[in-house]
Amino acid sequence: MKKIQMVDLKGQYEQIKDRVNNSIQEVIESTAFINGPEVHAFQKELEDYLDVAHVIPCANGTDALQIAMMGLGLKPGDEVITADFTFAATVEVIALLNLTPVLVDVEPDTFNIDPEAIKKAITPKTKAIVPVHLFGQSANMDAIMQIAKEHNLFVIEDNAQGIGANYHAANGTTTKTGAIGHVASTSFFPSKNLGCYGDGGAIFTNDADLAHTIRGIVNHGMYKRYHHDVVGVNSRLDSIQATVLRAKLPHLDTYNNARKNAAEKYTTALANQEHIITPYIHSESDTHVFHQYTLRITNGKRDALAAHFQELGIPHGIYYPIPLHSQKAYVDDRYDEANFTVTNQLVKEVFSLPMHTELDDEQITYITKTIIDFINK
Ligand SMILES: *Cc1c(COP(=O)(O)O)cnc(C)c1O
Repeated sequence: MKKIQMVDLKGQYEQIKDRVNNSIQEVIESTAFINGPEVHAFQKELEDYLDVAHVIPCANGTDALQIAMMGLGLKPGDEVITADFTFAATVEVIALLNLTPVLVDVEPDTFNIDPEAIKKAITPKTKAIVPVHLFGQSANMDAIMQIAKEHNLFVIEDNAQGIGANYHAANGTTTKTGAIGHVASTSFFPSKNLGCYGDGGAIFTNDADLAHTIRGIVNHGMYKRYHHDVVGVNSRLDSIQATVLRAKLPHLDTYNNARKNAAEKYTTALANQEHIITPYIHSESDTHVFHQYTLRITNGKRDALAAHFQELGIPHGIYYPIPLHSQKAYVDDRYDEANFTVTNQLVKEVFSLPMHTELDDEQITYITKTIIDFINK
């Protein structure tokens, strides 16, 4: 059996090696390392793929979130509601901008922000909601956009884990995640579904004015050379990363389908297990791109299973082991444990399996058999 990896970037690279090597070489020869033609071409190609009017490339997914919030003109003291169960970047940038993070609970099936919890958390100071399409499945955007409309709030989608996923709205339209809210962010960190060979990120919006504001913010607040109208940052995608992304974007749907196939095999093999909850998927399978394949182990043996995997050398992940409201940096008297029952439970049960585009049947059978044998012992 091939050695099992959590993410197999090498196997993926082998298949696009010539294209990637040649285009990196061309960037070097061109010396257009920053803001070169490759960055602009990638921007256009991503706009087409997502069917979004404006893509603004930047240095990473954390910057993308921060810049989106700066672009919306959020001010210290404004409250921003986001999920308690996500990667810390989401809450980090809210705090960094001196906005007030308001963490709320998630849904037990999708692990995504719970619209009912959002409603309860709204105050006159609330300005924005940040849904995260966690593990690659869209949050309940119909409900979130409706709440935002009623309360006049911005919606910033954190699409770092969801690129390529579709959202089917109740009105019959299908939209890519990241093209639904007022603005969205994504990350091209190597292990993301569309990853480059270093750091990278992007902001998306259909709002031309906001796109203009953001293009200035990423470039030191300059709208005219050496005229600094607002306080900005320096956040750029470099040409070498853009050329890698251009090589990979045409394969993104194929990559996501390979993930979905692996996920289906995992789910079939683990079906009807008393102590395992396999990932919930909305009725249409294209709504989940499986950035992670995350189980719930419900008989208290999650940590023992992790140790067993460790012993056997099978990679795995626990995303995420601590609720954000319990992290030292974000604890706050405002929070009431009674409002976080789902997240508090999930952190004890979640267990993510190896997930990438190169998993084969033999590996999947070995992984699932190991889990079933151990859990029922
Ligand atoms: C990866 C990730 C980010 C941050 O992206 P970086 O490119 O690593 O800065 C933000 N939010 C979520 C949900 C992520 O998974």
